[in-house]
Amino acid sequence: MNDGLRNEPIAVVGAGLAGTLLAILLARRGHRVRLYERQDDMRRVQVDAGRSINLALAARGIRALELADVMERVRPELVPMPGRMLHDPNGGLTFVPYGQRPEEVIYSVSRPGLNCILLDAAERAGVELLFRHPAVGADLARQKVIFKNDTNPSHEIPLARVFATDGAGSVLRRALVEQRNVACSEDLLKHGYKELTLRPLPDGRPRIDKHALHIWPRGGFMLIALPNIDGSFTVTLFLPLTGPDSFETLTDAAGIEAFFAQHFPDIRQLMPELAEEFFQHPTGIMGTVRCQQWSLENRLLLIGDAAHAITPFHGQGMNCCFEDCRELDALLANNDDWASGFRQFETSRRPNTNAIADMAIENYLEMRDTVRDPKFHLHKALSLELERRHPQRFVPRYSMVMFRDNIPYAVAYERGRIQNQILTTLTQNADSLAAVDYAAAARLIEAQLPPLPN
Ligand SMILES: Cc1cc2nc3c(=O)[nH]c(=O)nc-3n(C[C@H](O)[C@H](O)[C@H](O)COP(=O)(O)OP(=O)(O)OC[C@H]3O[C@@H](n4cnc5c(N)ncnc54)[C@H](O)[C@@H]3O)c2cc1C
Repeated sequence: MNDGLRNEPIAVVGAGLAGTLLAILLARRGHRVRLYERQDDMRRVQVDAGRSINLALAARGIRALELADVMERVRPELVPMPGRMLHDPNGGLTFVPYGQRPEEVIYSVSRPGLNCILLDAAERAGVELLFRHPAVGADLARQKVIFKNDTNPSHEIPLARVFATDGAGSVLRRALVEQRNVACSEDLLKHGYKELTLRPLPDGRPRIDKHALHIWPRGGFMLIALPNIDGSFTVTLFLPLTGPDSFETLTDAAGIEAFFAQHFPDIRQLMPELAEEFFQHPTGIMGTVRCQQWSLENRLLLIGDAAHAITPFHGQGMNCCFEDCRELDALLANNDDWASGFRQFETSRRPNTNAIADMAIENYLEMRDTVRDPKFHLHKALSLELERRHPQRFVPRYSMVMFRDNIPYAVAYERGRIQNQILTTLTQNADSLAAVDYAAAARLIEAQLPPLPN
């Protein structure tokens, strides 16, 4: 590197999922790395997990964790979820597999558990960890990042090779937006979420099927549950913030009990602490961040949610952040020109992060509503059938996003759009798989969907 920065430590700001993984990858390339985190060390002190206690881990995330050599530590912490379990209002259950091969599974993993494994690995890789060090701002004109810590209310470091991994509310993104007039939208969803707990039976057995992502779709809102390794489930209610049937209207214990008894009677009876937890736990907000510029020369790069937070409905936010880290690692390897590496990262990554942001919003509608439509189930079944017949060309969009780590999100989005048109055409006059015209299907697929990489 010819910019006089080689001996300066790299600063990674935010020791969440993206920051810790990135710090490991940089340290493994021989860089000195300092990782700053505003909270305490979660391995020693219980800190506010902030949001979602558990997460769905899929192929893109796994590939990046493998690159950092941490998958062996992570694997025992995973609960496989081979499909969705749909709960209808009468307690009826329908299991819908996510894919059709044994390896087409997503995994539930504890957020703090995964973060702790990454922190241990960062420490082993030689990363210097600085907890209780919140970044409070940056002065881009003076090229300084400003931190606060227990002994110093204003400690500055040079703005040189700084990675902002400080999450959706990034302080460093705000500095870029405010001081460089960078265009940035933060679209908050009109729906919020609340996390609740479904405890295991006294003998540790789970109260509902452990190997599924459970969904109670109710049109305008939904409840989901992801398993934990101890037999408990993290249950999340997604609901409008205002209006009828909203967080605004659920103000007392009786109202909450009645709402659950009406819409989710099967799970309501399994959660005796429902109302208590409902009031104790915060109502989370969700949104999509689209920022027109992620980098400043070779000085600053936004990465992870700081650059492109998305809504959680495709279970891809973390997976996408991990893929960011892997792609950036490849771009910076053997490249002394970090300014151009940062620009390339932005250029190649932005169409993909935009695509997954859009797919995440679309998936909310699918999870809470479309899954109740019989046509949806015919489309899903036909997608799998077409994949069996044309495995190189027709891969369901969900599978491209969740199980394939070599198909960019933007490609999955565009092919998914074409595939959807094909499915609509083929099911116009068919109400079962047997009634589909498979010769017409083959013609449409060969004309419109070029073969995918293996
Ligand atoms: C309800 C919900 C469910 C989700 N489910 C899934 C899922 O199933 N699968 C999936 O892939 N993704 C999921 N996500 C998305 C996922 O949580 C995020 O994409 C991921 O956490 C982003 O990682 P990050 O490191 O960029 O940010 P974060 O995880 O937010 O980490 C940011 C870190 O920076 C620290 N920090 C913040 N500000 C400062 C500061 N000023 N100075 C220093 N440190 C700071 C924070 O304390 C934190 O440690 C979900 C999100 C939500 C809200």
